[in-house]
Amino acid sequence: VIEIRALHKAYGELEVLKGVDLRACQGEVVSLIGSSGSGKSTLLRCANLLEDSQEGEILFCEEPVIWKGSGHNRRPADHKQITRIRTNLSMVFQSFNLWSHLTILQNVMEAPVQVLRRDPAEVEEKARGYLDKVGIGDKCDAWPAQLSGGQQQRAAIARALCMEPKALLFDEPTSALDPELEQEVVKVIKDLAREGRTMVIVTHDMKLAHDVSDHVIFLHQGRIEEEGPPAVLFGQPKSERLRGFLSATA
Ligand code: ATP
Ligand code: MG
Repeated sequence: VIEIRALHKAYGELEVLKGVDLRACQGEVVSLIGSSGSGKSTLLRCANLLEDSQEGEILFCEEPVIWKGSGHNRRPADHKQITRIRTNLSMVFQSFNLWSHLTILQNVMEAPVQVLRRDPAEVEEKARGYLDKVGIGDKCDAWPAQLSGGQQQRAAIARALCMEPKALLFDEPTSALDPELEQEVVKVIKDLAREGRTMVIVTHDMKLAHDVSDHVIFLHQGRIEEEGPPAVLFGQPKSERLRGFLSATA
């Protein structure tokens, strides 16, 4: 579904990604781990074209992103393609970013109706279904401020699901939450993994990465330091840096 090859990204002089590869096939869960500033969020944002990158390829369902210009002037060229990729790679952020002036149900319905121009009645039915699925079907008419952090994040996940994307991208979905609320969200992510959703998850939660991933990538200063199946990466880390990172987060 998503493939990234030798991606380079700099903010001005600061090189943040120095040739990173990532592949998430249909039904796979890939986790990105690494210390603060290693480039995890940047990689996710480049993947769905929220950020520009200067070199390397991005493919969505085997369709390469078409660029115009090069280096710092490189931009995606095809607006239809940009929209197709953004709407098919739904992002869930650390801070849930719900619209405070819309009810929970309206939040979930907003993009499918306004962006994808789907039929509101059909979207509403789906939205209620996704809210049920994440366990907050009774909160449809509540305002975001009336929900706990864990409930708000689950609403944000329902909102991403309601776009019926090809893949979900999570950027630290649990790190703004208290431990007990975190588990509500972890459970939802585990259910999605079991259903065979394609997901890329940036997380500081090594247990989550271990439990749900097919593949784990350890980023260090914009490069992949080590990657592999979770049992190997966590069970027999090879690099000194990864061992250090894992013992610091344990
Ligand atoms: P964290 O675990 O803290 O979220 P991260 O691995 O997600 O870290 P990024 O947010 O991808 O790291 O940032 C990578 C580097 O890029 C950091 O050095 C950061 O300061 C820099 N950076 C990120 N966004 C910008 C920006 N908009 N402008 C300039 N530099 C940026
Ligand atoms: Mg980040």
